Amino acid sequence: MSDCLFCKMVSGQIKPNVVLETGDVLAFRDINPQAPTHVLVVPKRHIATINDIAAADAELVGKLYLAAAEVARKEGLAERGYRTVMNCNAEAGQTVFHLHLHVVGGRPMGWPPG
Ligand code: AMP
Ligand code: ZN
Repeated sequence: MSDCLFCKMVSGQIKPNVVLETGDVLAFRDINPQAPTHVLVVPKRHIATINDIAAADAELVGKLYLAAAEVARKEGLAERGYRTVMNCNAEAGQTVFHLHLHVVGGRPMGWPPG
């Protein structure tokens, strides 16, 4: 997707602050962090929203979570705790329509979320 911000990061057209990269997944720091650690984990292949995940994407989506746990370990959050969030469409606050898992931590989290 040539007009997708996160596809541009995957292709290197825009250089994110990369935390982790695998064959299928890229993880980089959020430009507007909501906590001391705020990393976005994205599939390298464009998928717009959770609603667009196909059965054939199940392994890829699982890899987002494996990467999130690896990011948490690297950031020293694995034991103290962290939150993963994937927003879908307008009411959840999705603003970038390329699937991404927020990995947020480094401070206590409230519940319910806003
Ligand atoms: P969401 O609102 O769930 O779609 O999350 C999109 C996230 O992308 C927000 O937390 C933004 O701060 C983040 N974001 C937007 N532009 C950039 C950018 N150029 N580099 C890193 N993160 C970005
Ligand atoms: Zn994209």
